[in-house]
Amino acid sequence: MRRQLLLLHHSHISLRGCTADCKQSFKEQLGVTTLEKSKFYVKPKLPYNYKDLEPYVSKEQLRIHHEKHHQGYVNGANAILEKLERARKDGDDLDIKSTLKALSFNIGGHILHSLFWPNLAPSGKGGGEPHGVLGNAIAKEFGSFEGFKKEFSQAAASVEGSGWAALSFCRQTNRPIIMQIEKHNTNIYPTFRILIVLDVWEHAYYLDYKNARGRFVDAFWKIVNWDEANKRLEKLLG
Ligand code: MN
Repeated sequence: MRRQLLLLHHSHISLRGCTADCKQSFKEQLGVTTLEKSKFYVKPKLPYNYKDLEPYVSKEQLRIHHEKHHQGYVNGANAILEKLERARKDGDDLDIKSTLKALSFNIGGHILHSLFWPNLAPSGKGGGEPHGVLGNAIAKEFGSFEGFKKEFSQAAASVEGSGWAALSFCRQTNRPIIMQIEKHNTNIYPTFRILIVLDVWEHAYYLDYKNARGRFVDAFWKIVNWDEANKRLEKLLG
């Protein structure tokens, strides 16, 4: 009986039906290379320099966002993982509800920022319209790229308080679907892969645009990295 339960448990956690590529991209999305050495989160380096998004995002704005805010979520998530480990070892009871809520918030913050940096491109190298399989999927779902751009911009502009707009992809229906994420972890569709994400927390734009979130959203369209988004979709579709 015990052996059966163990086997059942084991099969439940394996990534059944997942190809080698799929497993690899799961790892990449989580920012890990091997399961053994990835006990804690690590903030990834930017794929460009702090000044490279100017004039759309200033060097100082990008530096504080990446160095301070993203690091804060990494540190927050790791501290909670350590707290959980310590409590389990010492046999202490934690307030599990509030601990898991804070863990979800911090991990969400880390994962979303890790997706955000590479889906931006240095000035002059980004923007324009999506091409390839993503361009087709967007045109089919939203009628046109302009239709998608309008809907995504509205999602970004109207997030209550702090949050994100994200373009995700549903494999069950093969539709691109826009998520309007509140904070870092509310309104998310579980397991939908994110192709493009836009941070509209005030910390993402306040130095450059003050309270004019709409102007920051307009700037985003000049530096969005469609090559990266298309690669994410191609990897998902296998
Ligand atoms: Mn942010």
